[in-house]
Amino acid sequence: MDLKSKIREIENFPKEGISFKDITTLLKDRNAFSYAVNKIVDDLKDKEIDYVVGPEARGFLMGAAVAYALGVGFIPVRKPGKLPSKTTRLDYELEYGTDSLEIHSDAISQGDKIAIVDDLLATGGTVRAVAELIESLGGEIAAMEFLIELEDLNGRDKLDGYHINSLVNY
Ligand code: 5GP
Repeated sequence: MDLKSKIREIENFPKEGISFKDITTLLKDRNAFSYAVNKIVDDLKDKEIDYVVGPEARGFLMGAAVAYALGVGFIPVRKPGKLPSKTTRLDYELEYGTDSLEIHSDAISQGDKIAIVDDLLATGGTVRAVAELIESLGGEIAAMEFLIELEDLNGRDKLDGYHINSLVNY
């Protein structure tokens, strides 16, 4: 299956000079969607995963589908103020300024084996922050899974020692 042909590229979105990888066209295609989810599940099958963690918002779409297909639970990571119970928060540096993410503090227990699933790996800042949140609660990152990897941004360099898998590269 040529997954790249199912991803739509939108020039100058959300800003001038960015070529946005639009995955809505892939998600809408039932064959491409199930193929992509199954590919990620194949990579996770032998890793004894307890939970899939997915960051807002496209990480919910891929992450929940992967969790369901793998037969494990899903845990959301969100922007501040969205999760209703007690949260653990991480502030992290962006190229310009900072950003923050939260997870429910009771969502992960010591030793839980976690797969992080997101739609796209760019600079690696998001997944690093998600990994830090999980590890601060005692979880172990068994894998990081992405539909898309933008190789020129060298996100992998920030993620030394983690198992990283991506399905489509640009
Ligand atoms: P990073 O933190 O690795 O620089 O950026 C990854 C995050 O930005 C992901 O959560 C992803 O959803 C979002 N993102 C950045 N660029 C794109 C893009 O071109 N397409 C999509 N679908 N998501 C993007």
